[in-house]
Amino acid sequence: MEIAFFNGKFLPKNEIRISPDDRGFLFADGIYEVVKWYGGSFFDMEAHVTRLKRSLREIRLQWLENETFPDIAVELVRQNGLYEKHAMVYIQVTRGAAPRTHHFPDYPLPPTVYAFVKELPDTGKIMPDAINVLLKEDIRWSRCDIKSVSLLPNVIGNQEARENGCMECIFARNGEITEASHSNVFFVINGVLRTHPESNYILSGITRKNVIRIATESGIMVEEEALHESELENITEAFVTNTTGEVTPIKTINGKTAGDGLPGRITILLREKFLSEIPTNRR
Ligand code: PMP
Repeated sequence: MEIAFFNGKFLPKNEIRISPDDRGFLFADGIYEVVKWYGGSFFDMEAHVTRLKRSLREIRLQWLENETFPDIAVELVRQNGLYEKHAMVYIQVTRGAAPRTHHFPDYPLPPTVYAFVKELPDTGKIMPDAINVLLKEDIRWSRCDIKSVSLLPNVIGNQEARENGCMECIFARNGEITEASHSNVFFVINGVLRTHPESNYILSGITRKNVIRIATESGIMVEEEALHESELENITEAFVTNTTGEVTPIKTINGKTAGDGLPGRITILLREKFLSEIPTNRR
């Protein structure tokens, strides 16, 4: 039986009921966070808690117990028998249930807090297959830095990617590549690692931040500067990063081979070094 967390309690998931007046349901008035469990520890939980707090602050949503997220996450892993496994924990906080008005309710409302855990395969240090990606116009709002549950453009972009034999959709705003539907994107051009700078147009990915640190520590030059679509023909490597997939190489972009289509030297090095920082992978 799957156990999830709902408003302070650990319950069988199929017993959880959320009000139709929940502002998460009516307005996507909420935020979320995702963290990965590696058979004994979370990777960079501190950064995830910091980002969760920032998302809450940016949408002026109070969840007083936000510091309990790490405890909730471990308890979910334990109660679902996943301690020795790999898994992701998802948490969502919405502004709660109240009669529908655009403005916040006039009286204090308890937020709705929901979290679940999902087992992930332990792929060890194996390099995942390089993926095809679709390049699309970035039609999202201009606060992509908030981890909001309002993800319709990401959902549509990812669906179109799937319909075109691709695993991910990367976005370009005025020709400049921002990020992907659920990952950040990196390129190697002239031996330099390039990615969009932190701004309101991308989510500040925790994997992104760690990959940039590892690259710098490894003597790889990093430029946080958007890549223009017209520069794609000169790239020698490309990869996406996110919490669950870490570093995943890109094979093609809109059908055109990225570099030679194989995981490149820098991509391999960054993935290996990233995984070597996870305690359980040192076994
Ligand atoms: N950008 C977007 C739009 C995302 O949804 C995600 C995944 N949460 C990321 C980037 C990568 O962030 P992280 O490395 O923290 O998972």
